[in-house]
Amino acid sequence: MRSTPALIVGGGPAGASAAITLARAGAPHLLVERSRETGDAICGGFLSWRTLESLARLGVAPEMLGSARITRTRIIAGDRVVEAALPRPALGVSRRTLDTVLLAQAVSAGAAIERGVTVRGLVGTTATLDDGATLASDTLFLASGKHDVRGMARPAEARGDDPVLGLRVRIAAAPGLTRLINDAVELHLFDRGYVGINLQEDGSANICMAVHRSAMLAAGSPAVLLDALARDHPRLGERLAYRGGGETIDAIANVPYGWRALRSDPGVFRLGDQAGVIPSLAGEGMGIAIASGIRAANAFLAGGAAAAPRFQSDFARATRRPITLAGLVRDAAERPRLALAALPLLSHIPGLIDTIASLTRIGHSPLDHSPR
Ligand SMILES: Cc1cc2nc3c(=O)[nH]c(=O)nc-3n(C[C@H](O)[C@H](O)[C@H](O)COP(=O)(O)OP(=O)(O)OC[C@H]3O[C@@H](n4cnc5c(N)ncnc54)[C@H](O)[C@@H]3O)c2cc1C
Repeated sequence: MRSTPALIVGGGPAGASAAITLARAGAPHLLVERSRETGDAICGGFLSWRTLESLARLGVAPEMLGSARITRTRIIAGDRVVEAALPRPALGVSRRTLDTVLLAQAVSAGAAIERGVTVRGLVGTTATLDDGATLASDTLFLASGKHDVRGMARPAEARGDDPVLGLRVRIAAAPGLTRLINDAVELHLFDRGYVGINLQEDGSANICMAVHRSAMLAAGSPAVLLDALARDHPRLGERLAYRGGGETIDAIANVPYGWRALRSDPGVFRLGDQAGVIPSLAGEGMGIAIASGIRAANAFLAGGAAAAPRFQSDFARATRRPITLAGLVRDAAERPRLALAALPLLSHIPGLIDTIASLTRIGHSPLDHSPR
């Protein structure tokens, strides 16, 4: 049986951040990632100013991620549009680019990474792999993100009675589309869901949607749903009209928005979406993932496997405000009447959007700084 002192399961933003932090400290570890090639995970690709600060701590400068600067937010419900400056500039980046840069940073820091290795199940800190082999560890960093691993799955109730699906379409760069979206992150609201749109580093538009299963079932399929939304919401329709017709619609089911891991056992650090799932309209999931990876690794470096329960409860406290507030905003956003009533408030109360945008970020902690 193979073994490692510290096993990181998953090479997304959370796992890569933990690997960089452990590698920089010279702590022995192994990261296993199921994909052989870095794909383009379903994600809106909005990197908040706070996320950019965390990335800088890992040696990832914004210039390494392209130049799709986002400085404004535009919220659209029915015929109402509200626009406001973001507290600080953000970036639109595809996950292919972000994950590639983070994993390359991990490799150059000396991280041990094995790709094409899937963990099928976990018993304590011991993993069973897809080939039946066993990989034992003293400490586990669970960073499998959107995907649950048998033995440590998030509870089914976390999905709610009417679970959320994530859908994503990318539309190739087009001058007219660039003019429409420009340097904004757009939020188009509709009954039982919302669509986020921003441009990415190659000029393409990332159109990412969170929609309840009931709305999807009523439409019949993702393609029919998109067509119906385009018809019923003219501003969204204007953007979707740039589809060439051959775009794939990527989907992920059962996103447990609002869930947080409140505790864990010694030796088990839950990271990223395995620690807490913020509604995607906040655009802070990657920030939470990166912060969790850095903080968990630093907690481990300072206190070993025994530090896990304390880390988990501290991290749950740190994510309570952003996740709860984002949940309240999402509840309003998905109800057309409420959204239409709330939009004038957003435009008439100066600084309200700015305040909400700031309060839905993960705060900094002393553990964000690696002991170097
Ligand atoms: C529709 C939607 C839109 C979003 N938009 C944004 C946004 O604009 N901005 C933002 O900040 N956040 C956004 N998020 C949230 C963000 O995508 C997540 O919070 C973030 O990806 C979490 O990072 P992670 O590293 O925990 O997990 P992931 O990014 O899911 O990475 C997990 C990694 O683990 C690997 N893995 C999984 N299972 C196994 C296994 N069994 N064995 C080995 N490897 C495994 C996967 O291949 C993957 O590489 C969005 C989420 C959704 C659903």
